[in-house]
Amino acid sequence: MESYNSFHVAQKQVLEAAKLLHLDNATIELLSWPQREFKFTLPVRMDNGTVKVFHAYRIQYNYARGPAKGGIRFHPDETVDTIRALASWMTWKTAVVDLPLGGGKGGVVCDPKTMSQRELENLSRAYIRAVAEYIGIDKDVPAPDVYTNPQTMAWMMDEYETITHRHQPGVLTDKPMQVGGTRGRRDATARGGVITVREACKILHVDPSGCYAIQGFGNAGQRAALLHQELLGGGRLVAVSDSRGAIFNPHGFNPKELVTHKLTTGSVLGFPTASVISHESLLELEVEILYPAALENAISEINAEKIKAKIVCELANGPTTPEADLILYKKGIHVIPDILASAGGVTVSYFEMVQDSYSFFWDEDLVHQRLDQKLMKAYHSVREAIKEKNVHPRLAAMVVGVARIAEACKLRGWV
Ligand code: NAD
Repeated sequence: MESYNSFHVAQKQVLEAAKLLHLDNATIELLSWPQREFKFTLPVRMDNGTVKVFHAYRIQYNYARGPAKGGIRFHPDETVDTIRALASWMTWKTAVVDLPLGGGKGGVVCDPKTMSQRELENLSRAYIRAVAEYIGIDKDVPAPDVYTNPQTMAWMMDEYETITHRHQPGVLTDKPMQVGGTRGRRDATARGGVITVREACKILHVDPSGCYAIQGFGNAGQRAALLHQELLGGGRLVAVSDSRGAIFNPHGFNPKELVTHKLTTGSVLGFPTASVISHESLLELEVEILYPAALENAISEINAEKIKAKIVCELANGPTTPEADLILYKKGIHVIPDILASAGGVTVSYFEMVQDSYSFFWDEDLVHQRLDQKLMKAYHSVREAIKEKNVHPRLAAMVVGVARIAEACKLRGWV
């Protein structure tokens, strides 16, 4: 279980941004709570013949700017408040990138590591049977999240189409390509992050061909390792880590060889030419750019003072605590906050919805080009807010997102 309530943190962030925007009390109250919450019990037949009842949620935080959008998690520690917080952050994230979407999130309290593929399929289909009436391309469009994946989406889409008797692939995103998925989704999160780093380097006069380090070498971290060099025309990857350990080489790793090593051995450890360092010291290295791409709370008041990177690009959700944010800001470290840095994934998911709705699919180059435009524009909107309000980047990103949603609520006559 989490040690603090993430929804309380999310509500505090809304309040801080709302105060800077001088929003009225009704708007603050509206934006501090989800607009709709669904709670279900899902009876699922297990492989041993028994029926197990799972608790599940879908939360549509705000839909003033468009249908709710956000993943579905399968995780044993999920609670209504973890889902509320994640749905809240999705709302500001889609608004920061200026997508015509709201925010949402769903979850099932379960331990997928102990379940067979058939049980997971039964659970995925049961979830859709419960939620079908409330989702849809014009209502709420889920996607994968922790311990769900494109296969989960394919089962869920199939169940939805079975119920509705219509072909509607855009009801869920991040599907496999053969059933309405888009090109360019796999590396979208990392690509979006690297695009924001490129813009930050230009403004702050940081050398993108300097050193970079990556905490967490999964989907987002591996892609960032490769794309950093591809998009920024260089850079020395001096350290990476995964849950088993961290490695360092001051002369730099070859990212392609490192990815191959991780995929074949299951860890970054054991890579030739690497020395092993502690998890903590990776974060404290003297690098131009640090990519946290693992878990929450990696940078806290305990280590923030020791961070030496010039730019911190948050590919992970919530890697910096609110206390650490202030410390990094005072030290002059430029944090690209998660609701901006990791927004590439939901942006390409939105592109998938668009392509599904007219059954015409774009080349990978076009996906990349449009993602670049969206993220570049979003980065500069946040940059403007930092200057205008004289606040740290996370609060500036919240100000951009909250202002856009508040305006939509007002135009609709809700407040
Ligand atoms: P993943 O599971 O593929 O990778 C996570 C990696 O972090 C793994 O290599 C794991 O070994 C490593 N790790 C775990 N604990 C660690 C620790 N203490 N120190 C160092 N490494 C550790 O997950 P992912 O899809 O790459 O997502 C990573 C982060 O990015 C998550 O916070 C996720 O919410 C966020 N994110 C991902 C996407 C996406 O499209 N993949 C989109 C938005 C946000």
